[in-house]
Amino acid sequence: MKKYIVFAIVFFSLMMESQTFDIVPLGIYGGEEEDNLSSYLISKHNANQFLALDAGTINAGIKKSIEKGTFSVSRDVVLKDYIKAYFISHGHLDHISGLIINSPADSKKNIYAITFVQDIIKKHYFINDTWANFTDEGVAPIGKYTLKNLDTQSYTEIPETGLKIKAFELSHTKDYKSSAVLVNHNNQYVLYLGDTGADRIEESKDLEILWKSIAELIKKNSLKAILIEVSFPNNQPEKFLFGHLTPNLLNEEFSKLAKLASKEKMKNFKVIVTHRKPTGNNPEIIKKELLQNNSLELNYIFPVQGEKLSF
Ligand SMILES: [Zn+2]
Ligand SMILES: [Zn+2]
Repeated sequence: MKKYIVFAIVFFSLMMESQTFDIVPLGIYGGEEEDNLSSYLISKHNANQFLALDAGTINAGIKKSIEKGTFSVSRDVVLKDYIKAYFISHGHLDHISGLIINSPADSKKNIYAITFVQDIIKKHYFINDTWANFTDEGVAPIGKYTLKNLDTQSYTEIPETGLKIKAFELSHTKDYKSSAVLVNHNNQYVLYLGDTGADRIEESKDLEILWKSIAELIKKNSLKAILIEVSFPNNQPEKFLFGHLTPNLLNEEFSKLAKLASKEKMKNFKVIVTHRKPTGNNPEIIKKELLQNNSLELNYIFPVQGEKLSF
């Protein structure tokens, strides 16, 4: 009996140690459902010190997370105290509208983005014509948010989170940039991609550069998961993708990654599918198409708003 108890303690402590990150999806879709748009809170495990990866939906996602028992504090505490900073992948509203609408209720924090995205935020959103200027620069600044430039060469530390992030540029239709971040805690990693097209369609090398940078981490088992978009089912014509992926295009890209990281290391690798466009039955069709044609044997995870993922 004693032996089993010792075994159980060792087993559970190993289980606990193997978890590095918590992710709370505040919104999972890529349009239409204004109360459930792209936003994923990430923290080191059990710390509630989150960086928001995009901010399409904030308040409705916090509300849902409390209903689901993910958080046992008030909405105000999650917004003001638990969320320490934002990363905005690109300038489209389904990735930033929650931040804008909730800015009057928010606390002082940093917004991290590549220069291209910062310029959109400064030129189009916090300009008083569309919304009061909650940043600390430009015309009549309220001073709540500080825009911080993200480097593509080195890591930027996010205060109060224990996380460091490094950015990668993505192509989201020609001449329109989106971005990804590699999140690092104690040399364990999660990769989050904003909206992106496939290299072949975009005539880009952005994903190739990204895959080359992370392949080594997959080989070393230190990349825990990738969050990546699959916006449309396979029947979406290539000329109407608007800088997005389908299940077939995701396979096309992941087979390139598998060549670099080895098929064996990709087996059971966690892929969190983001940004399905919710028109009609598309989310279910996308799910079916990914699961039916999964020759790399990836572990596809379809996030649910408000339900915490730990790994
Ligand atoms: Zn989007
Ligand atoms: Zn977009």
